Amino acid sequence: MTTVIDGNEIGDQITEGVAACTDTLVSEGVTPGLATVLMSDDGASETYVSMKQRACNEIGIEGFHHQISADESAEALFSTIDELNADPAVHGILVQMPLPDHVPKRDVLERIDPMKDVDGFHPENVGRLVAGNARYKPCTPHGIQKMLAETGVVTEGKDVVVVGRSDIVGKPMANLLIQYGPGGNATTTVCHSRTDDLADKTRNADIVIAAAGVPEMIDGSMLSAGTTVIDVGINRVDADTEKGYELVGDVDFESAKEKADAITPVPGGVGPLTIAMLLYNTVKAASLQSGVDIRLP
Ligand code: NAD
Repeated sequence: MTTVIDGNEIGDQITEGVAACTDTLVSEGVTPGLATVLMSDDGASETYVSMKQRACNEIGIEGFHHQISADESAEALFSTIDELNADPAVHGILVQMPLPDHVPKRDVLERIDPMKDVDGFHPENVGRLVAGNARYKPCTPHGIQKMLAETGVVTEGKDVVVVGRSDIVGKPMANLLIQYGPGGNATTTVCHSRTDDLADKTRNADIVIAAAGVPEMIDGSMLSAGTTVIDVGINRVDADTEKGYELVGDVDFESAKEKADAITPVPGGVGPLTIAMLLYNTVKAASLQSGVDIRLP
């Protein structure tokens, strides 16, 4: 019997623990604050930011939102970041990606105070992660690590194939998997658009983590029986629905489910964990900046 991993349930459990930490901080006079910055008119990005803000509000994290028009200068974004860096009510800053082409992404990531970088994308935080001394683990890979642990999937000694080498999912995922300790100790292969014979790699994996952004590119014929399949992809494809599209993952769910021991659906798989881990990092940021001790889940 294949287990369909319920990301909503696992996300809710983590959020409950994070909410308890928020209560502890508030009782000590510290209200955790998360600032989101959106410099885009993209509908999907707007949806992601509002979901993040709503999740904060539900557990008592104060949300601050800044909207910058996509045709404004990079300087406008830099000065917003500078203000947020200096604001003691803001413990975490999230600049929603993607940014307009005229804005240098690396400069934006480096502008954010590393202590407030709850995405974990600042080079200082990336370096700490690689060194095995993470401050803020990037939300999606961290959520996947929690999800595997909750599902009882051990990574130690396992062959894990990560499909995708982006800075936000693929690379940090691989970095977490090769660290010492629980959730790590895996033999990790990173595949990408230049990989020859992807199916050969995925068929030899115990765990496949798909983060390529290509609709349903991994099907059951590319998997061996008993594989754990984590589908990170969120792709809009045209469909005869009210919105004119539907969301599908990078995995062809039906054929992959025939082979998998455990598999995540889209939606309702990795997505809720990404949001839960953002709350986790925000509360951790508030604790680090205030010196109030908390016990994160
Ligand atoms: P990206 O476009 O930055 O990176 C995609 C990676 O996939 C690249 O490294 C590329 O080399 C690789 N790739 C592309 N085509 C490939 C192919 N045919 N074979 C093998 N590798 C291929 O994307 P990203 O930001 O890492 O996001 C990946 C997907 O995950 C997207 O669908 C995105 O929407 C989704 N996502 C979901 C969450 C979540 O919370 N569930 C979070 C972040 C991203």
